[in-house]
This record gives sequence, C-alpha cells and structure tokens, in this order.
Amino acid sequence: MSKRDYYAVLGVERNASAQEIKKAYRALALKYHPDKNPDNKESEDLFKEAAEAYSILSDTEKRGMYDQFGHAGVAAGSGAGGFDESVFSGFEDILGDFFGFGSGGRRRSARNRPQQGRSLEQLLTLTFQEAFEGCEKSVEVHRAEPCETCTGSGLKTGAKSHTCSTCGGMGQVQVQSGFFAISRTCHACGGRGQTISPSDRCGTCHGAKHIEKTRPLDVTVTAGVDTGMKLKVRGQGEPGALGGPAGDLYLVIKVEDHEFFKREGENLFARIPISFSQAALSTEIEIPTLHGVETLKVPAGTQTGKQFRMKRAGFSIVGRPHRFGDLFLEAVVVTPTKINKRERELLEELAEIEGDHITEHKSVFQKVKDFFN
Ligand SMILES: [Zn+2]
Ligand SMILES: [Zn+2]
Repeated sequence: MSKRDYYAVLGVERNASAQEIKKAYRALALKYHPDKNPDNKESEDLFKEAAEAYSILSDTEKRGMYDQFGHAGVAAGSGAGGFDESVFSGFEDILGDFFGFGSGGRRRSARNRPQQGRSLEQLLTLTFQEAFEGCEKSVEVHRAEPCETCTGSGLKTGAKSHTCSTCGGMGQVQVQSGFFAISRTCHACGGRGQTISPSDRCGTCHGAKHIEKTRPLDVTVTAGVDTGMKLKVRGQGEPGALGGPAGDLYLVIKVEDHEFFKREGENLFARIPISFSQAALSTEIEIPTLHGVETLKVPAGTQTGKQFRMKRAGFSIVGRPHRFGDLFLEAVVVTPTKINKRERELLEELAEIEGDHITEHKSVFQKVKDFFN
C-alpha cells in the first residue's frame, strides 16, 4: 500500500507555516483520537497517519528531506528517521491540554532541569503577648543540606557515578499504556540518569548527597498573628537539585492560651468577677489589658452578664499595625462563700433592712399560690 502525501494527509498547502501544520494536525488528532473512537480500526489508522505526517512536517530538517526526496527521504534507516516512537512525545506536547498528559513535553529535559527543593513546615509556638506585639524568634530548622564531605555528589573521593542501567541515562522510562507510550521518572536513579555503586558512596552521607542538619534561624513575627496562620520564610526549605532554588520554610503559628483573655479574630473577651457590694455600689476596676493597665468604671446596680466594651483594647490586626479590635468584658457578680464574723454581722443587718422589700416579694408569692389553690 503506497503512502499518501503528508501535506495531503494534513490537508495543508506545501508552503504551509509551522503554525498551520500544527493546527491542522491538532484538529485531525482530536477527531480520530482512539479515546473518541474506541475499537475503530479506520480511525486508528487515520490517527497514526496524521501523527506520522506531523512528525515529519513539524521537523524542519525532516520536512526539507521530504520536500526533496519524498517518502524515501524520511524512511526509517535513511538517517533522517521515519515513523518511530519519538512521534508519541509529540502527541504529549500537542495534546497534553486535551487528554490530560500531565507530563506533556517534559521527557526530553527532565534529567537536566533544575528542581526546587522541598518546602518544609514547622510549628512555632508563641505566647499571647508575643502574638500581640510581634517578636523576633530564634527557631531551630531541621532540614537536609548538601553533604560537605562530597560537596553534594554522593561520591567517595576519586569515584565516579555510572549511567543508570534501567533508563540508560535518560532519567525517564517509557511505559506502554494501550496505544500510547507514556514517560515516567525512572525509579532506579530518581530521574538523574546516574547511579552510584555501593563501594563508591561517600562515607558521610552514604550516597544520599545530603545530610540532616539543625540550624538556628532568626525570624521576625508580625504583630497580630493567630493560631493556624503560616509564616513563609523564603528559601529556608530544603536545597534545590541541579542548581534549582531552595524550597521555602513555613512556620505554622500556635498561640498559647491566655489565662484571662479569649481571642476571636481581633476582639478579646474576658469575664470580670465583682463582689455583690461592688455591683450594688459602683466601683472602679483595674484591667491588665495587653496595652497596659486600664481602669473600668462599673456603675451601681450592675447585674451578672452586663457587658462592657473597651475600644481598641483588643488584638492588633496583621498588616495594619495601628488597627486594633475591642475588648469585651462581662461582669460576673460573685456570691461570697467564705465570710468572716464582721461580714456576717453586716449581711444579717442588711437582710433585716431588706425585710420590707422581701415582704413585698412574699405578697407576690402568696398571690401566685392563691391562683393555683
Ligand atoms: Zn534511571
Ligand atoms: Zn557525602
């Protein structure tokens, strides 16, 4: 069976631009893709034919050979290469966004591409006051750093690494998945294309190339942070590979509870216990706010549950250092449990004086009783 002209296969002119060729191929590939035409031999053949045409016409050198010598110029063994496996990597490039080839186009460069180091997460515990004011903290960062003995090569002095026998140094292996060949990172060498034999490994890192280290790091914590927030310290994660940048360090904030205040966003809440006489007669209470001691005036006749609001006595807001929430104080009138002799005398006297009021209460109680009888 004779081959059709590649330009005819793609339905483009002989002087078509690379863009026109790509566009024509993409349309055909989408139309005849096996996923869309399951068990259709004709579609599969048309799909392969379009792929073959594209593999030649998208390559300037092969296209030149084809224009000059026709199919003979690009046949397998002619030196320019015909329809081979490499065409599949072209699929990944061009169809990646249509058919979910996540690794589309990565195959050729994965081995040498600089890789960013892993990002790290670490807990950072702060006191309530530290979170409120912001602070400087020294944290111990645990991370992998390049081995100093072998300067990150993983090799013994004078030893050399070998080309990985699993992937032949490509760093990637091809996995046949039905009609497609999909590239995956080689597990034997981790995508580096090189392996180190056990006897050639660095005595310090045993070929791992890095070593776990703990280093102190000074960080500045912004005022107003809260539990669960993450502080990003750029470039303080694990080092990158092949010249790639280091990862980042994320400090996960945990703010310790305060014995007196509860926090909700930028507002603070607290209960203030006051005695019966303070509640009845009015009083002034010194409140140790985060901003310093402030005086709260409690008016006469204050009941349990009465709320007082101290404006701007709450938490600062992250990134807005001059904005503060409010402090809400809830009065709790405390009934005394231990009283001395003098207090007892006074309370008894008070009870006596209250007798008149209580008589009023009694009469109300009597009315209720009568109602039910
Ligand atoms: Zn390998
Ligand atoms: Zn080493």
